[in-house]
Amino acid sequence: MESANTSITDDNAALRKEINKLSRELRLIKGQLDRAIKSAEANEAIGISLRMVNSMQRAYTELLLESCPNVIALLDQNGKFVLSTKSLLNLMGVPNFDFIRNLRYDDTFAKYFSKECMQVLKNAVEKVAMSDDSALFDMWIDFSEKGENLRYYSVELRRIGVDNSIIMVMIDLTDFMQEKQRAEMASNAKSDFLAAVSHELRTPMNAIIGMSGALKRSGISPDHAKYVTDIQNASASLMSIIDDILDFSKIEADKMDVVDDDYDLSDTLDNLHSMFMTVFAQKELKLEFDISPDMPKFIYGDEKRLRQIITNLLSNAYKYTQTGGIIFSAWHEEHESCLRFDIKDTGIGIRKEDLEKLFKPFEQLDVRKNRNIVGTGLGLAICYNLCLIMGGEIWVDSVYGEGTTFSVKLPYKKANGVIVKKNVEAIEFSASNAKILVVDDIDINLSVAEALLETFEIIPDLAKSGMEAIRLAKEKKYDIIFMDHMMPEMDGVETTANIRSLCDWNSQVPIIALTANVIKGMDELFLSSKMNDILPKPIDLNALNLCLRKWLPEETVNL
Ligand code: ATP
Ligand code: MG
Repeated sequence: MESANTSITDDNAALRKEINKLSRELRLIKGQLDRAIKSAEANEAIGISLRMVNSMQRAYTELLLESCPNVIALLDQNGKFVLSTKSLLNLMGVPNFDFIRNLRYDDTFAKYFSKECMQVLKNAVEKVAMSDDSALFDMWIDFSEKGENLRYYSVELRRIGVDNSIIMVMIDLTDFMQEKQRAEMASNAKSDFLAAVSHELRTPMNAIIGMSGALKRSGISPDHAKYVTDIQNASASLMSIIDDILDFSKIEADKMDVVDDDYDLSDTLDNLHSMFMTVFAQKELKLEFDISPDMPKFIYGDEKRLRQIITNLLSNAYKYTQTGGIIFSAWHEEHESCLRFDIKDTGIGIRKEDLEKLFKPFEQLDVRKNRNIVGTGLGLAICYNLCLIMGGEIWVDSVYGEGTTFSVKLPYKKANGVIVKKNVEAIEFSASNAKILVVDDIDINLSVAEALLETFEIIPDLAKSGMEAIRLAKEKKYDIIFMDHMMPEMDGVETTANIRSLCDWNSQVPIIALTANVIKGMDELFLSSKMNDILPKPIDLNALNLCLRKWLPEETVNL
């Protein structure tokens, strides 16, 4: 019996143990189940949020593609459309992207792009497909296919991503271009007007300067001669204003000419020195020229423009300095192949806030204080542009009340050879036997030329038109013909050609262009149209003297 009891107790213990083990396993499984349920719930939640994020992303992308005003298209590595903004679809008149999906860009664009533009686009696609560089170009494209909506686009292509996709961005610049063209046309009209006005002003100035010179030489009383000198000085300053306006209009119209040639820089600087020494003596200002001995002597560049820059800076220094002096230094920056010029004065100086206005046209500073000083405010704007055109720069340092230093840096080239000094001294002579014809449609200009030539005892023949000049040139052999450029019916260029071909006597006669039209390209025009030289109007007596000496046959000149 006892052994039977013992066996039941053992069975119970084993059962309990088993139950305990099972309960532990059950708890374990329950725990795992709980965790699995939680993780499944979490996964679903993540899935839901991912789906939400994705659809928001898609909505944003679609919004972006729908509303972006610029044309953006994505091409796959085979040049097929993968994506595009609605703006492109609208331009092409297709309702949705499915119409172009998987079509090649060149097949699709062929009907809107001209052949040339298509080639440019293809080249650009090929280029960016093979490099990391972008391609940027502008072109006219007509998406209406009928020439009704030609618009100007800036196009940029770039390769993106690892699969060699290409993004293409097109920005419509038509309105901007039209605005720019309008502004350019307005600016050109203004410049043309200024050039025409300046040209028209030069013609009467030619008469005033020419006739006052003739009056002075005609043996008038000293009192009257003084009046005439005043007229001449006033005319000279008016002429320099007209020249500035003309120069400025040329700069604005992008027609400023820089004519490079070999010249002797030391001669130019000597000449400026003596010219300004005389001017400075009038105000008891000290003028020091400090020219470094290493300055190159013969250089290649535009001497006239260099003179113009230095003259304006020295005149300004003179105008705006009452006591002390001016130092003009010039040296050579060998490592940069540059000429340097500094003009340092002890004058009124310039306020810091005015410095930025300084090189702008028509700006004059401290107008009330400087009201007695003449000028138009164009000088520095012209200097600034001339320096720029010649590849150099100009800048200023100033302390208000103490003084100013203007600095100019200009690149230069060495002259091609040694320059033999030309005989530029005008010497008195007469040429009463010289046969000269002057052609000009304006009476007063003929009278001026006549009066000027009288200085050399020359009595010229006068022609009021090209036709009359040809008639005279058929009858008589001339030593020189002075030819106006702008004449009605037959201008100077045409008259010259006719004289050369129709008047045997005068087929080789030196023909000198008389011109008030100092615009870029004119020199080349005259010289290429078989004229031999140019004499600008107003005619300067000295220049006429040199011109006659250069072209008259020796036997007609009496020294
Ligand atoms: P223009 O040269 O056309 O006859 P301008 O001399 O008045 O006239 P700019 O040479 O352009 O014109 O000079 C512009 C302004 O800059 C001057 O009116 C003057 O106020 C100021 N300025 C120029 N140079 C100096 C200087 N050395 N010292 C002080 N102020 C100067
Ligand atoms: Mg000036």
